[in-house]
Amino acid sequence: MNRQEIIRHYQAHPQVPVLIVGGGVNGIATFRDLALQGVSVLLVEQNDFASGASAASSHMVHGGIRYLENGEFRLVNEALHERNRLLLNAPHYVKPLPTTIPLFKWFSGIFNAPFKFLGWSEKPSERGIIIIKLGLMLYDFYANFKRSMPTHELRLQTETREMFPSIHPDVQMTATYYDAWMPYPERLCMEMVMDAQAENPNAHALNYMAVVGGGENRVVIQDTLSGERWVVHPQQVINAAGPWIDFANEALQRPTHFIGGTKGSHLVIDHPELRRNVGEGEIFFENHDGRITLMLPYFDRVMLGTTDIRIDHPDQAVLTADEVEYMLDMVKRVFPSITVQREQIVFSFSGVRPLPSMDANTTGQISRDHSIRTLEAGNGTTYPIHAMVGGKWTTMRAFGEQMSDVVLTRLKHPRAHSTADRAIGGGRDYPTTPEAQYDWQERMVREHELDPSRVQTLFERYGTYAEPIIAHCANRPSDPLLTHHDGYSHGEVEFITQHEQVHTLTDFVLRRSLMAMLGQLSLPLLHELAGIMGDALGWDEAQRLAQVEATLQTLQSRHRVALSPEQPSRLAL
Ligand SMILES: Cc1cc2nc3c(=O)[nH]c(=O)nc-3n(C[C@H](O)[C@H](O)[C@H](O)COP(=O)(O)OP(=O)(O)OC[C@H]3O[C@@H](n4cnc5c(N)ncnc54)[C@H](O)[C@@H]3O)c2cc1C
Repeated sequence: MNRQEIIRHYQAHPQVPVLIVGGGVNGIATFRDLALQGVSVLLVEQNDFASGASAASSHMVHGGIRYLENGEFRLVNEALHERNRLLLNAPHYVKPLPTTIPLFKWFSGIFNAPFKFLGWSEKPSERGIIIIKLGLMLYDFYANFKRSMPTHELRLQTETREMFPSIHPDVQMTATYYDAWMPYPERLCMEMVMDAQAENPNAHALNYMAVVGGGENRVVIQDTLSGERWVVHPQQVINAAGPWIDFANEALQRPTHFIGGTKGSHLVIDHPELRRNVGEGEIFFENHDGRITLMLPYFDRVMLGTTDIRIDHPDQAVLTADEVEYMLDMVKRVFPSITVQREQIVFSFSGVRPLPSMDANTTGQISRDHSIRTLEAGNGTTYPIHAMVGGKWTTMRAFGEQMSDVVLTRLKHPRAHSTADRAIGGGRDYPTTPEAQYDWQERMVREHELDPSRVQTLFERYGTYAEPIIAHCANRPSDPLLTHHDGYSHGEVEFITQHEQVHTLTDFVLRRSLMAMLGQLSLPLLHELAGIMGDALGWDEAQRLAQVEATLQTLQSRHRVALSPEQPSRLAL
């Protein structure tokens, strides 16, 4: 069924066992789990899938070594289990990541740490070598489940300097441990949506659909593209609106104060010298103010992050000039001889962590663990609302399963399957060894007669989900590369537009590809994409121009970058 048919279906049959509000990673993980159990479920997302907090993460798939000092052992244990599972279930999008901590002092933090741990001290203090060593031993212990990566190692000064010649002279040692990262979080979400819908014909996820009202036995949904409103009668509602949970509850006539979010921003930098110095692993370090910050190698760019600032409304989360200064300055903490200029910023993104509302003197102390808060039917409403509060990207599968179990119990619907060992999208039948990958690509070239280098690009970009894209491209009379981006072909853009619920040019450049994120956009490229997507979606000339305008507007207002005819994406703040 297409979008219109799905809406008509629900207008004719408005009774839905489960309605999920919010298509971020937690709503999507729950959707996937319920779909797998055969439950009829509808998910609505007010914007595009994975456009809220799920698009704003530091891209780390990790246990969260920092949470050990807050005593969040349950979370670290669960997150490390989930990290190891994601490495196996989504090997195309979740990759091992050596992570190096530069250490400036031997003993500091030793006396402060137990006090912090017991909640008697809130002051961030520098963490010395001994404390970090103890933390890493504990982290290795928790990571033992399905161990897929080596344990940590410490490097003395000489070895450290061989590896990082420009590192700060005060660094005494470095510690390297393994976590994982995900280059394409938004694509991983999209593949889970597609998997779930393929699995269960009664599972529907619609983007650009906002919950705007509720009460009694009704939930009012508005198509944010057409303005049309429709009503469903759910048996249970899952509020997975992340940082917007309280606003969604208010729309449902059940006001709450569950969320006390903090904003975090990241910069993407085009700086070949910094990129070389960062190397192939993340540098995870404590800044002067005690905050843990990072430099992540991101293809040929470097990602810098992040900040942690209390915020009242998630819609206000955009990069500020102070944050730019803070993040550019923090590079000096590790590489004092490297200067990053504002002109080298090609992209920025900000989002709000959906943290539980709690009184803590420092934002770093707010729990990063997740919980389910249920508002039982009552107060004039016939359905319960389960709010998914918190939740790391890394733990989305476990949180989705826990949410799903609550719903299944109430539906008296037994759990039929687990997602624990279930591959996601292009991670299915993924060839893991270099030989198997070569064979897979050889077979694609042979069966579809597509150029080997295109097959390789598509495999690296999509894993085994590349197969239908390869077939689509090969079936066209010709499939030229884009004039303004030679990493993409017409057929590829057309396929993604037709098959991945793409409605706007912004969906494609921000979330189905990394073009915006890597600072690869230019005005001619936007016009070229609007042309190809317009052919696929039936846009006339005025609509194509409007899509380009809207994308420029979003890049400026949400990501603080501008494109000019002479110059690609650059900071405009
Ligand atoms: C700066 C930052 C760094 C982070 N780094 C990491 C990291 O490195 N690793 C990690 O594991 N985790 C990280 N996280 C945490 C993780 O990204 C989030 O906790 C997770 O993405 C939350 O997902 P969610 O689905 O709950 O929320 P969201 O992704 O925000 O999804 C909620 C969705 O609900 C929609 N919505 C809201 N109201 C309505 C409505 N009325 N109707 C319909 N839809 C609605 C929104 O549009 C939104 O898309 C980070 C988070 C931030 C902000």
